[in-house]
Amino acid sequence: MKSKTCSKCGEEKPISQFEARKDSRDGYRQYCRDCKKSQTRKAWQKWADKGNLKYWNRRARSLNSKGSRRNGIAGEIISNSKPLTGLELMELYEKSPLCLYCELELTPTKVVFDHKQLLSRKGEHSIGNLSVTCIDCNQLKKARTDGEFRKFLSSYLARFTLIPR
Ligand SMILES: [Zn+2]
Ligand SMILES: [Zn+2]
Repeated sequence: MKSKTCSKCGEEKPISQFEARKDSRDGYRQYCRDCKKSQTRKAWQKWADKGNLKYWNRRARSLNSKGSRRNGIAGEIISNSKPLTGLELMELYEKSPLCLYCELELTPTKVVFDHKQLLSRKGEHSIGNLSVTCIDCNQLKKARTDGEFRKFLSSYLARFTLIPR
C-alpha cells in the first residue's frame, strides 16, 4: 500500500503520513498524521478550558520533570521534593486565575507557573513557592526572586515617562 485516503480530511496521502496501528484492518490509522495531531490538540484544549484535572496533572508532570535542570541544584531540589500534584495546581489557579504581577486574567493554557524563590537559588519545589504568572511578566522576571522583581518593576516602570499617569 503506497497511499491511503484519510477518513477525516478526505485527502489521499502517502502511507508515511499515517501512523501504524496493529489493531486496524490495514495496519494504519484511519486519520492522517495532521488530522490526528489537530484532533489531539483540540481534545487537549477542551480539557484545559474545562479546567479538567487531567490537564493540571499533565502540567504537574512537566513541572516535576527535571528536563534541562537535571544536573544543577534545581534538579537536585526537584529530586528531593514531594512532587507537585495536578490538584494543587488546579486549586492555586482557581484561587486566583490572574497574573500575580500585572493581574491579567489567564486561561489555563496561558498560565506560566513561576517559582517565586528560584530553585537555582534554593527555593522550594512546593505549591507555597509557586505563583501564577503571565508569559510576559515571567520572561521579564527571569532569574529574579519575587522581591527583586517587584523592586525592579517599580524602578523600571518609573523610567517610562511617556506613559501618561
Ligand atoms: Zn487527514
Ligand atoms: Zn503578568
